[in-house]
Amino acid sequence: MSPSKIIKEIKQTLPTDVQLVAVSKFHPSAMIEDAYAGGHRIFGESHVQELQQKFEVLPKDIEWHFIGHLQTNKVKYIAPYVRLIHAVDTHKLLVEINKQAQKNNRIIDCLLELHIAQEETKYGFSADEMYDYVKQGEWRQLENVRICGIMCMASNVEDKAQIASEFQQAETLFNKLKTDFFAQVDSFSIRSWGMSDDYMIAVNHGSNMVRIGSKIFGPRVY
Ligand SMILES: *Cc1c(COP(=O)(O)O)cnc(C)c1O
Repeated sequence: MSPSKIIKEIKQTLPTDVQLVAVSKFHPSAMIEDAYAGGHRIFGESHVQELQQKFEVLPKDIEWHFIGHLQTNKVKYIAPYVRLIHAVDTHKLLVEINKQAQKNNRIIDCLLELHIAQEETKYGFSADEMYDYVKQGEWRQLENVRICGIMCMASNVEDKAQIASEFQQAETLFNKLKTDFFAQVDSFSIRSWGMSDDYMIAVNHGSNMVRIGSKIFGPRVY
């Protein structure tokens, strides 16, 4: 089945308030064009160089989301056009995004990355760290970035109860941040969790933005 058909099927199963990011990393622009022709506009990439190449050849009304780990020295390449940066994991990165956004005379929307999975990845705030970071408030001086919510990835395990419990922790943290610091801020609204294998669990535990790759485009060839 074509990417555009699969996207249609997935959208039919998602509640209407859940946004679908079609994760096109490692897949050629022709597959994105198929999805685009079917009406889809939101695509996610996780490598700056690859995103740059696709941005240049594909239609300009695509909303490009950067979903991977972003190195500070590469922010400048995507700052002119990126719609949402999902995985902000340090204050230093947010400062750089702010600086590059300023240079481009725009405000860049960002999500803070919550590290919740068991795996020993290096990236993301723990729940306590994120709460403290938001509370401390240094980010408030950065006028060209807007913190719009949080993103996370569940552990890569079969145990659905564990995945559900991790997403639940993310939802609990989101709600706490919303109540304590963003109650008056409508733009703080994005809960980005759920991928090909766990997006229905994610949607049942607070997600309103799922990032789906291999289910749409097939297995990636690295
Ligand atoms: C690759 C990737 C996805 C998509 O994963 P699939 O299992 O192919 O759906 C989602 N989120 C992030 C951060 C990714 O890097």
